[in-house]
Amino acid sequence: MVDLIPSSDTVMQILKRTGAFREGHFVYPNGKHSPHYFQMPLAFRYYDTARVLAVALSRKFRVDRDISSQLPKVSIISPSSGGIPVAFGVRDALSAEQIYWAEQEGNKRRFRQYINKGEVNPSIMVDDIIRSGHAIEETDTLVKELGTPVIGCGAIVRFTSAPDKLGAVPIRSLVEFDAQMYDEGEDCRDCKKDVPVEHVRF
Ligand SMILES: [Zn+2]
Repeated sequence: MVDLIPSSDTVMQILKRTGAFREGHFVYPNGKHSPHYFQMPLAFRYYDTARVLAVALSRKFRVDRDISSQLPKVSIISPSSGGIPVAFGVRDALSAEQIYWAEQEGNKRRFRQYINKGEVNPSIMVDDIIRSGHAIEETDTLVKELGTPVIGCGAIVRFTSAPDKLGAVPIRSLVEFDAQMYDEGEDCRDCKKDVPVEHVRF
């Protein structure tokens, strides 16, 4: 089964082809410059690529005995809207019973109203991309407040600068990406070459 997980290169090709991985001279909202940018929902707009990616990620969980022994009584949880299509795809592939997602309301991440303690199955948290890890860490706190253990965590892409564990739970991903971030100016290769910048929203 492990052999059926596409290689990191294959996944990157899918992300490039769909426009989810972009190369250029980007300025992030925090002011950092980078020669690359991920806009993951562009890969999940197509049924075929969404399925390939979600099924591949689901296999990373299924090989974990602790997780597979608890199926289908698990919940798939997304920390953000970008993770929702990933969560639905992984839920389908694992035949997991439940799905939840957190959203930003004002400046606070929360679940929808009327989700009560004791209702949420042991959870596998999934996102499209883990850049800093803040979203999954905040959601981990919310999940624990509901009295639910997190038994798995993963994303299509994880920046290598982000944590690779959530407590004792390893963070699984299809691509481990070494993100390059620079200050404007001398540090940035594209600034030096006067390449026009593109501002990205998040
Ligand atoms: Zn630059």
